Amino acid sequence: MGSEAEGNPPPTSAAAVTELDVSRLDFSALRFRRLLRAWYTENARELPWRGAQDPYAIWLSEIMLQQTRVSTVVDRYTQFLHRFPTIHALAVADEEDVLALWSGLGYYRRARMLHRGAQFVDREFDGKLPRTLGKLRMLPGVGEYTGAAIASIAFGESVAVLDGNVERVLLRILGQAERNGSQARARLLQVAQQLIPPSSRRPAAENRAGDHNQAMMELGAMICLPRSPLCSHCPVLEMCKTRGEHPTRPRARMQSRTVAHLLALRKRGVVTEVLLERRPADVSLMAGMMELPALPLNASQGREPVLRLRHAITNTNYYVQVFSEGAKPSGEADASLLEKVLATKAERKWVATSRLSQQPLTGVTRKTLQRLNLMSVPKLAIDA
Ligand code: SF4
Repeated sequence: MGSEAEGNPPPTSAAAVTELDVSRLDFSALRFRRLLRAWYTENARELPWRGAQDPYAIWLSEIMLQQTRVSTVVDRYTQFLHRFPTIHALAVADEEDVLALWSGLGYYRRARMLHRGAQFVDREFDGKLPRTLGKLRMLPGVGEYTGAAIASIAFGESVAVLDGNVERVLLRILGQAERNGSQARARLLQVAQQLIPPSSRRPAAENRAGDHNQAMMELGAMICLPRSPLCSHCPVLEMCKTRGEHPTRPRARMQSRTVAHLLALRKRGVVTEVLLERRPADVSLMAGMMELPALPLNASQGREPVLRLRHAITNTNYYVQVFSEGAKPSGEADASLLEKVLATKAERKWVATSRLSQQPLTGVTRKTLQRLNLMSVPKLAIDA
């Protein structure tokens, strides 16, 4: 720990740690944050949620950014706020509408939890987010990381965040090996907490704790990169024990899976409709979302797909083949693909192509329908 007098109480989650090795922090925390802050002021990316004063907007951005690329979140964040500008507007919305706007962002449980969280805040806190980490943790879907991010960025509470980026930065600075487990994590959170400025009584525009947390995350995202850190541009290079020599964890191997779907279209007057199927509620991935009806791989043997595409979800590459009723193999006397699909049990519905963007589509379904020119970009539908 540095020699300065600014001390902060440990976060509650670290309180149980008995053997904290804080002796490794052998530089001035005050100098560290000054260097970091100066760098952040000069180099922070301009993002729609940066500088937001509305706690709800900050909450939304933190939930969307979990495990999702910033470039993907930028558009969706703006669309979501446009459609649900307040906690109350979100609380009274249908879950289907919320999921439709989340389509393509993945990890749909986040959207459901955000929706439930909004209902909770609307009911229990009169539509206003509580201001402390302790109370924020009562909200569905708000864990230690999200709670600390909202409490510090929206309300200036001096609590450190520890996401993957911050964790990587700290481990490299301290020269410590990556370790899994709650105790290792709690120890690192203790270090992060020693670096954060104390709560400020100044106006939100000078929110030092919130800015510090954002600067740490930005440093990990822009400079201290997982594979090739840009150490010569790093504002805290002088304090870093590893400077690019830190061993990195080998990347998890990607799995491959081939899946097939049916594209069934019908005309109702001038309206074209697509058959969609709801994924079961008890599956681990994308439960309850809508997709093109799934086909067993052997059902489409001998047929040419109308579309092939690759879609990556976490550690799996999905090779997706889409078949339509049009091209049958010569001489086949088998039941049609549509008949085979309709013979299985699932919730299905025909949806007009003009209304597809209002459906809670899985990311790959959305991508498929866009490639097949059956779906306009969502922005147009939302603005209409
Ligand atoms: S000096 Fe390099 S390894 Fe160390 S924190 Fe900075 S970018 Fe990361």
